[in-house]
Amino acid sequence: MSDSVGSELKFRFYRGRVGLAQMLRALGIGDGDEVITQAYTCVAVPEGIMSIGATPVYADILPDHVNLDPSSVEEKISSATRAIIVQHTFGYPAALSRIMSIADRHGIPVIEDCCHTLSSEHQGQRVGTFGVGAFYSFEWGKPIASGVGGAVLLNNDTLVEAMDTQCDSLITPSFVRGLKVQLQYMVFRVLYRPANYWFLKDLFARLSKLKVVEGNYNPISADDPSEEFSFSMLPAVSRRVDARLARLDESTHRALSAAEQVGAVIKEAGYEPPVVDQGDLAVPARIPFAVEDKARLLALARELRTEVAEWYSTPIHPLGANDQHMVGYASGECKVAEAACQSFVSLPVFGVTPRYLDDLATLLQRAKR
Ligand SMILES: *Cc1c(COP(=O)(O)O)cnc(C)c1O
Repeated sequence: MSDSVGSELKFRFYRGRVGLAQMLRALGIGDGDEVITQAYTCVAVPEGIMSIGATPVYADILPDHVNLDPSSVEEKISSATRAIIVQHTFGYPAALSRIMSIADRHGIPVIEDCCHTLSSEHQGQRVGTFGVGAFYSFEWGKPIASGVGGAVLLNNDTLVEAMDTQCDSLITPSFVRGLKVQLQYMVFRVLYRPANYWFLKDLFARLSKLKVVEGNYNPISADDPSEEFSFSMLPAVSRRVDARLARLDESTHRALSAAEQVGAVIKEAGYEPPVVDQGDLAVPARIPFAVEDKARLLALARELRTEVAEWYSTPIHPLGANDQHMVGYASGECKVAEAACQSFVSLPVFGVTPRYLDDLATLLQRAKR
């Protein structure tokens, strides 16, 4: 495995999407510019793009896959395209070589969305080091969950200088906000295990509606981006991220071994995790696989209290068909991504115990009937 990402993550922000927005700004991107990103993503990405006045343009993903289709990227390039975001969904490396060569041919910078992975590799090189920069997230469900936070890795000295200047004007979030994130982190830390997944998911949804906890999604508005886009990372989160990065190899090994065990259970049940190209290494944050009747499997998983996640359930999760236009997505635009939303579910690589593996095998057995 190549050198770990550790101390390279010096640019830290309130969230991953804030890091993305700041990186786009450092590239001189703004009003009227287009940024290509994949459908089958979360709304945080277009939110970051729109916060600086740019327009998200959606490319489709590869069939039976969860990452960008290089030919769709090429089709979406216009004279206004200023950046291409390459997402390594669930930690599975995207087709980077092909996308990089398309981007190079058009002279467009590539930004990697590494929110789901710190250690995956493409052709022996760590993802995040291919484009001009990469952004990371430390929210719940990400490889090193530390509360709410994001970071940026820059592979270009000019960008580092621009970012240094921008970071001088970041604001520290309020004490109350910090307290909220801290409490939320502690509650999840104590309660989270795959058997509590459904309970916590419902609880979190209810509490974020009441604004008691920091939800994952802000209301979208291009004219008035959330004040969060000028926030730095909370100091307590930053300390946790440092501690977790210091033990990154350990968590990478744990994720790899859990992925192997979960992968074996789903293969046994006749399903397939995504194919990893020869020479690539996937350190998954979750294990996705396609099922025939997603709604039925999820209902059964809830009943049996076994963790199975539905996301992404819409191309720009969690925006439904009526809200997608707010981030510039037109229904039917990316057909493969829409089909993936109908068929893919995902499984955890954290808290994977023999008990979870048993429960999972039982669930998949029962779902077959
Ligand atoms: C979580 C996530 C983000 C954004 O992270 P935040 O820290 O919530 O802003 C961006 N892209 C992907 C693919 C994500 O999963």
